[in-house]
Amino acid sequence: MVFSAPSLPEEDDYLANNMKEMIGGCCVCSDERGWAENPLVYCDGHGCNVAVHQACYGIVQVPTGPWFCRKCESQQRAARVRCELCPHKDGALKKTDNGGWAHVVCALYIPEVEFANVSTMEPIVLQSVPHERYNKTCYICEEQGRESKAATGACMTCNKHGCRQAFHVTCAQFAGFLCEEQGSDVDNVKYCGYCKYHYSKLRHKEREKHKARHKRTAESPALRPSLTVTIEKVSPFVSSLLGLNKKEKFWQCGVVVKMLGL
Ligand SMILES: [Zn+2]
Ligand SMILES: [Zn+2]
Ligand SMILES: [Zn+2]
Ligand SMILES: [Zn+2]
Ligand SMILES: [Zn+2]
Repeated sequence: MVFSAPSLPEEDDYLANNMKEMIGGCCVCSDERGWAENPLVYCDGHGCNVAVHQACYGIVQVPTGPWFCRKCESQQRAARVRCELCPHKDGALKKTDNGGWAHVVCALYIPEVEFANVSTMEPIVLQSVPHERYNKTCYICEEQGRESKAATGACMTCNKHGCRQAFHVTCAQFAGFLCEEQGSDVDNVKYCGYCKYHYSKLRHKEREKHKARHKRTAESPALRPSLTVTIEKVSPFVSSLLGLNKKEKFWQCGVVVKMLGL
């Protein structure tokens, strides 16, 4: 099942509905929008709620008929299919090179995890994950009364330098603490997450920046805010699919504005 009609919610709604999108959107990037070049694909497996962008799950060719996620395709007993990196059972999983399973999102956000084939994003290779990651306990599990699960799998740590909070990738995903940041290279995306404290600090900073931008917009009508917002929210996956990166797009907009003499 494929959905690609674009829908662009207002940014404030987008933030307010963050939680809803965690449930309704792509299991990997949490965005609920689909694009013609990168549609949201829904698993047709019985009782399976997996939805993924083509590029987020490494679907080389989207079938015209029904599509099944790897878990549903495998026919393995559901109880046996669990992520080696976290305690959550649902979500978009792929086989690991040692015959187990892992979430694509867990693979993206635990830095040492690799994909043997980057276009199909499988199998997931876990051999370089250091042991310390498996020894850490998830503070989100502990806070939410899942003490028995806190030590399951591996943890990522807060991206704020010096912060030692550790958590499961999916626990941070459900809480809305994951981000994709521009890496050192322009094409590079850095997948990182923050503890609740540092995430809210970051969001506050972003809101201040957003306000400042709106102020500038009011002074100079040439910069149309809706345009800027749309471009900023284009997923890096899509950008890479289109062979563009955010900086390039901003630059192109700048050129258009200049050419119009605005
Ligand atoms: Zn996605
Ligand atoms: Zn499925
Ligand atoms: Zn996982
Ligand atoms: Zn957890
Ligand atoms: Zn932190």
